[in-house]
Parts: sequence; structure tokens; C-alpha cells
Amino acid sequence: MCAAVTSSRAAQTRAKPNRVMYRRGFAESGVDPASIRTLDDLPRLPLLDRRAVMAAPRDFAVQPLRLMWPSRSSGTSGQPITVYRTPGSSAFEQAALQRQWGWFGLPRDARRVVLRGSSIAVDRGVLTHEIPGDHQLLVSSFHPTPEALPEILRAIRAFRPHAVEGWTSSLTLLAARLRDAGERLPVQAVITSSETISTLQRELMSAVFQAPIVDHYGQTERVAMASNCEAGGYHVFPDYGIVELLPMADGRAEIVGTPLHNWGFPLLRYRTGDFVGPAPSGPCPCGRAFPRLGAVAGRSEDAFVASDGRLIPLPSEGITQRLHELGNRLATGIRQVTTDLGVADHLQIRGRASNLVFATLDPDGKPSQPYRTLLLRQLLTGGIIGPSFVVSAALTNTDIDHTIDVVAHACTVYKKALDAGDPTPWMGGRPVKPVFRRYV
Ligand SMILES: [Zn+2]
Repeated sequence: MCAAVTSSRAAQTRAKPNRVMYRRGFAESGVDPASIRTLDDLPRLPLLDRRAVMAAPRDFAVQPLRLMWPSRSSGTSGQPITVYRTPGSSAFEQAALQRQWGWFGLPRDARRVVLRGSSIAVDRGVLTHEIPGDHQLLVSSFHPTPEALPEILRAIRAFRPHAVEGWTSSLTLLAARLRDAGERLPVQAVITSSETISTLQRELMSAVFQAPIVDHYGQTERVAMASNCEAGGYHVFPDYGIVELLPMADGRAEIVGTPLHNWGFPLLRYRTGDFVGPAPSGPCPCGRAFPRLGAVAGRSEDAFVASDGRLIPLPSEGITQRLHELGNRLATGIRQVTTDLGVADHLQIRGRASNLVFATLDPDGKPSQPYRTLLLRQLLTGGIIGPSFVVSAALTNTDIDHTIDVVAHACTVYKKALDAGDPTPWMGGRPVKPVFRRYV
């Protein structure tokens, strides 16, 4: 860790004299950069929020922009962000990756089939595109259809890959198509990234690709890197970036990274917005001393079904963030009106923002189908069919606000029924019944 501390101080030394922004930041936080001498001193620096970099990325550059190249994220965790990289940083990145490939017997010039959301393959209107200098074969993630599969498979086999890598959802789709076609595509490693990975996905991919699944964690900002070892441990690369774990109320921790290689664009204590669960205790069976993280538990993107039945990974659209924004707007609005109208103890919103449900409780606080019927009837009267409050990305803020207005009206009726101790006059028919069988 000594090397890491030394490098961190070097990053600050470079940051301090070159940009007003860093001088101001140190001055405002009251921290003398010279006082940051060991790893234990690092938490005295303020945390850096993603939004600050998004708002003015050039302010974080301490070398001339012409000596670096910009990189724009695909927005897997929301809105895109632009960062700048030095050539040395890119070489460092490659070296870190190659070291990790070695754990799985991959050579430094490993030939990789790459599937990510959008790619040159899509832009050029082709299914695959080879980049010889990078030993990569890009495969369009948007076209693993049964019709296109034979051509894609021919190109992949002709390429003779050591590994397949890309977004978990994209690789899962390809694996599913291969399985359905009765095909196998043996490689030495499957390198997944950018999304959380489920047990089912692992099983499918390891059956089709007949190789270990290596989940890789990184970001466009390149402040921290972690990867699976052959024993399944999730190891931080401490020479790549200093990783701090910021505890959250729900037991997870946010990854905060301070990179040790990109001297032209130093991000100090950068909040990644990515979360991990508790780290396993004790040494990893692989024997490596690199610290371990818990499973990444804060980024997940699914595939969406297009109207023609194709499964499409769409992280670049920021749809999950939109769902959460809409859901939060709805939940906040409804909680406000139920509180204002005195029924908050009886009409409750539950679940994640993108997947809200509601509970209807009678005057005694017990779940009640008659009160549920009353609410559904009143929503219907206002033009809302609402068996639950799950939002869709197709909805607008106006739709959400209209729903809140209708719920507000329904709450006034709900209150009357509670006061009367009987919802029957407002139910408009028999009580609804659950149609799901309960397994206990
Ligand atoms: Zn390990």
C-alpha cells in the first residue's frame, strides 16, 4: 500500500499548482494538501460527486486537453459523463487488464469477441467488425436473432477467440441464442462487466461458452478496478486506485475511488454511484493478497423486448433511471396527498420506486379487499386503471401528476368510508379477490 500512498500524494502534487479549481477545493475544505501523508489522511479530503464532473469536466483537467483524449460513458448508470485520459493511463489500464487475464491463462494479446450495447458494428451496418490492433471482434448486440446467428457464429469461429467479453445482458442474449440453436462456443474465459450478474446467467453462459465467468468492475472514470479471480473472489486492484467503501443505511457501501494513474485528470475521492454488499471475511482461497469486495449490488440493466420480438440491451437509454424518477415522483406525490387527507395509515405505497404497489388497510389497520375495491373503483372513475402503481418509461410527468390528482380524489372517498366504518356504499359492486395462489 506504500506505493499507493506515494502515488496519491503525487496526484495531489500535480493537481495543486495547475488548476484554480483544486486550489479552491483545498482552501474551502480547510485541508492543506501537504498534510495528506498516509492512507489514513485521505478521508480528510472532501468527496467528489459525479455531478460536479458532469457539469464541468474540463475543470478537472490539469494537463492540456490536446495531450489527452476524451471518453464519454455509455451511461450505464444514468446520464453520460465525459472524462479525459492520458496515454499513460490507457497503457496502465491495459496492463491491469492483462495481469488479470493471466489469472485465467489468457495471453496478453488475447483475442476477444466483444459485445456491448452500441458498437461500430451497428454504426457500419454490419453484424461483426474486427479491430486487428486490439485483437477484438466487435459483434452487434442488437442483432443476435435466430436469422443472423449463423453468420455471427461463422465470423466468431473464424476469429478463433480466447475469450468473449461485454455487457452481461448482451452476452446472456448471445448465449441463449446459441443454446436454442444447439450450439456451443468454447473459450477460455467469459468476461462480463457493467451490470450485476445472476446465478442463472452464470449457469447459462458457462454451459454455452464452457469457461469460467469473470466479472469485471470498472467505470468510464477509471477510478477503481476489481475483478473475479478463479476462486470467485472479487478482488480490488489497489495499485490501480485507492478504494474506500462509504457505508449506506441499507447495509451496502458505495465505492469511492482515487485513481493512481491518470495524472492529467485526477479525480480525488470520486463517488462512483456503484454499490457493493458486505465483503467476505478471511483470505481468498486463490491466495492473492488483493482485498476483496462484496458483490456489486447497485447496477443492473435488463434487456428490453422490441416490437418484433428481438431482445435488446438498452443501458445507454438511461431507462432504469427514468423509471426511478417517475416512480419517486408518484410515490412522493401520493404520500403527500394521503398524509394531507388523513388516510396515510390506511393507504400505503410500498416497493421500489420503479415497481410500486399499494396496500389498503381498514380502520383497524388490517389488509382489506373491500377497501381495495373502493380504491380501484374510485381510480377507475378518474380514468386510471390501477391494480398497482408500477410505472412505465413511456409515461410523462403529466401522466404521473394526473394520477396523483385522481388518487387525491379517491382518498377523500376513502376517508369517508373509514369514518363510516363501511366501504360498501362506494365499492360499486362485489369486493375484488386476489387471483394469485398463495404458496407458503
Ligand atoms: Zn481470489
